[in-house]
Amino acid sequence: MIRHPAFASLGCVVALLAGAWLAPVPARAAAKAFPAAVSPARARADVPRVVVTGAMRRYARTRYALYFAGTFYGWALLWGALASGVSARLRAWAERITRRRLGQVAAYYGALTALLAAAQFPLAWYGGFWMERQYGLSGQSGAAWLGDWAKGTLVDYAVTVPVLALALWLIERSPRRWSAWLWASLVPIIAFGIFLAPLIVDPLFNRFTSLPPGPLRTRIEQLAAQAGIPNAPIYVADRSRQTRTANAYVTGLGSSARIVLWDTTLKQLPDDETLGIVAHEMGHYVLKHVPWGFAETVLGLLILLPLAQRVAQRGAAYWAARGRIRGLTDMAAVPVLLLTLSVLGFLCEPISNALSRRVEHQADAYGLAATHNGPAMARAFAYFAAHDLSDPYPPPFIKFWLFTHPPIGERIDFVLGRDEPGRKSGEIRGSSKL
Ligand SMILES: [Zn+2]
Repeated sequence: MIRHPAFASLGCVVALLAGAWLAPVPARAAAKAFPAAVSPARARADVPRVVVTGAMRRYARTRYALYFAGTFYGWALLWGALASGVSARLRAWAERITRRRLGQVAAYYGALTALLAAAQFPLAWYGGFWMERQYGLSGQSGAAWLGDWAKGTLVDYAVTVPVLALALWLIERSPRRWSAWLWASLVPIIAFGIFLAPLIVDPLFNRFTSLPPGPLRTRIEQLAAQAGIPNAPIYVADRSRQTRTANAYVTGLGSSARIVLWDTTLKQLPDDETLGIVAHEMGHYVLKHVPWGFAETVLGLLILLPLAQRVAQRGAAYWAARGRIRGLTDMAAVPVLLLTLSVLGFLCEPISNALSRRVEHQADAYGLAATHNGPAMARAFAYFAAHDLSDPYPPPFIKFWLFTHPPIGERIDFVLGRDEPGRKSGEIRGSSKL
């Protein structure tokens, strides 16, 4: 798994260029790092078969439905804030309480966030807390979940206010070219965001410690030395506070780049399977997938923001003609901006997810070449399907739209050398693990 802050889904149209710049063919990338290691592992009898249970199917279907329902509901709320005049009333209130522009934006967006969060709370509660408990995936208390949810909402708010204030200021100063200026200002902001997220944001939710000494750590250090990254920072996050599922990810940029293992993974998986997972994450680290993801986002925004400018200007004209806002420079037009970005980002999901599945497959190929242990990786994948209810065989449309990783079924086939995904269709499909 690669962690991205906001804007990641906007890294869209770039996918059209993906073949040109994104990444060598997976097996070749791994072969470069481990010249002697690329022989497909053979299937062994001790690899469990993935059996799709009723619970797995129900959980997956509910998740997919929640995703689409939540997205459309969010759009309806933004539309409603404009149509009902609520946005204009919040703007009038913010202008009454302070004269300073940044203060006005903070007050307006604070009130809007509070209303939207309240309206979306039932879905967030059901999907984030209730469902996870219902399926035994989390033992977190309601109060602890609520605390995390409130923190997440506040972090979003704190990050969005200065960006919105900047956008409104640019729209006012340069009505024709604001999207270009916004893009130029977002590049350093996003880079800084990716750099700072593991240092400032992640510690708000979890504690990060170094892996305790022992046989596993020794084997991980050997793997890292062999990969040419002997000093790769590897942390353990106390995710057992929030979930019973297992996972790992890479995050950060430059000196904040790191590999993070969930403590649940260490507790639940045998060492050889954990090692396979670590090797996958090392693949992301060595192949520089986070900087590539940043480049993808930046290039995607370069194409998407001018498009967003046109759409937002039309949207603003529509609502101004109905007396709901004064124009795009009006704070009350913020829902127009949010709606535009959300719809365009949603339409880009299949493209950015196709890119993501490609790098995830590369990380699998790397992990396989590094560990020579396809069966252990396959057992870890099978565990994710059975224990974490990760859908091993999603419907094609769901794979196309939602899957950031190849589905578990395809990944098992790949690490066991049963199939060469991506060769037949030129596309690799996804799930949500690692
Ligand atoms: Zn990954």
